[in-house]
Amino acid sequence: MSFNDNKENVTILGSTGSIGINTLNVIESNADQYAVFALTAKSQVDLLFDQCVKYKPVFAVLLNSDAALQLKSKLLESGSATEVLEGLEGLNFVVEHEQTACVMAAIVGGAGLLPTLRAAKAGKKILLANKEALVMAGKLFMQLAEKSGATVIPIDSEHNAIFQCLPVSNHSKFINYEQQGVQKIVLTGSGGPFLNTSMLELNQVTPEQACKHPTWNMGPKISVDSATMLNKALELIEASLLFDLPAQNIEVLIHPQSVIHSMVHYKDGSVLAQLGNPDMRTPIAYGLAWPNRIEAGVAALNLSEVGQLNFQEADEERFPCLRLGRAVALSEDSAPIILNAANEIAVAAFLQREISFTQIPVIIEEALNVQERKLIGSIEEVLEEDNKARSIASNLIAG
Ligand code: NAD
Ligand code: MG
Repeated sequence: MSFNDNKENVTILGSTGSIGINTLNVIESNADQYAVFALTAKSQVDLLFDQCVKYKPVFAVLLNSDAALQLKSKLLESGSATEVLEGLEGLNFVVEHEQTACVMAAIVGGAGLLPTLRAAKAGKKILLANKEALVMAGKLFMQLAEKSGATVIPIDSEHNAIFQCLPVSNHSKFINYEQQGVQKIVLTGSGGPFLNTSMLELNQVTPEQACKHPTWNMGPKISVDSATMLNKALELIEASLLFDLPAQNIEVLIHPQSVIHSMVHYKDGSVLAQLGNPDMRTPIAYGLAWPNRIEAGVAALNLSEVGQLNFQEADEERFPCLRLGRAVALSEDSAPIILNAANEIAVAAFLQREISFTQIPVIIEEALNVQERKLIGSIEEVLEEDNKARSIASNLIAG
């Protein structure tokens, strides 16, 4: 028996996070077209329980097995029919399941790599929010998707914008953008909460200040990445991989209002941009419905209220992560894996108040200097280099 034959059955990796919750919100607004097949989280029993009661998925998966046990007994008590699975095996099982066509990859960080790759291998429609997975696996990810016929739709707002502005929007097929007249991509970024903070004060900023993004409401890790602009470094690599464009053809531009989500320049002088209120439900809705459009629950953009759109060049002295990101994006070796892993360790240490905000780029740069670079040919090698970088960064922090 198959589940909800007449609807698109969606699996959400990371349903209790910021992207996961927004995805459920868009699905709820379009319940005639989408159903929830599986929901997953790391260890948030109560929230996942509430989501199971509300959205009635076939499966719920918790990475943590104690948490899975708790969820199982709560669901049983409430008379829910949702089956609880646990661990990486549980995540892999649901993403590969023949009854789910669409997987929202919204786990944060490298932890999302393996289940997202499984979804790619299984030929699913992947709504890719988990940029770290792509940055780590690099070309291997896109090749796997190409081979299996998986469709990769970027959810990151900038890449979703670019996806909407490019001539043929199906990036499971490699397209020669040069032939299509694409000259360059401009990734916009708000500049985060510390765009105008004095360099002296930057040393003292707290996790609370770093997580208070001026225009977007996001999970803690990506909020800190936005504050250091390491997020834009990851996005540079992400764009280069998704759209098969050299990093030289991708620019970063500060745009504090976050209304223009990115732009594509063509050789005839045309520039196409996608605009909208900063609300992740727009790219999520576009990813779900592509190539169609559905309601996202997002307020209409009112440009007279916005009043001004400002732009400025990104300052690499203020944001050393941008300089590191550009150098890494130009490399063909394991540098992106090192950058991502060292950053994850450094951000976790900053959130735990073990290091200062300005030490984050220092740790990343030192890890990039210390760890030997390799050409990567397999996922096993990705995991090996990732592990190495994590322990190098942890040692650097421990001093
Ligand atoms: P979040 O911290 O709010 O949520 C993360 C989710 O992943 C949670 O459901 C959590 O339970 C799950 N998770 C965490 N660690 C896990 C593990 N080890 N194994 C299994 N599940 C795990 O994060 P978020 O802000 O929603 O971001 C998710 C991803 O989307 C990130 O890669 C981020 O860069 C990307 N993204 C987010 C936004 C945004 O607006 N939040 C925008 C663009 C891209
Ligand atoms: Mg983004």
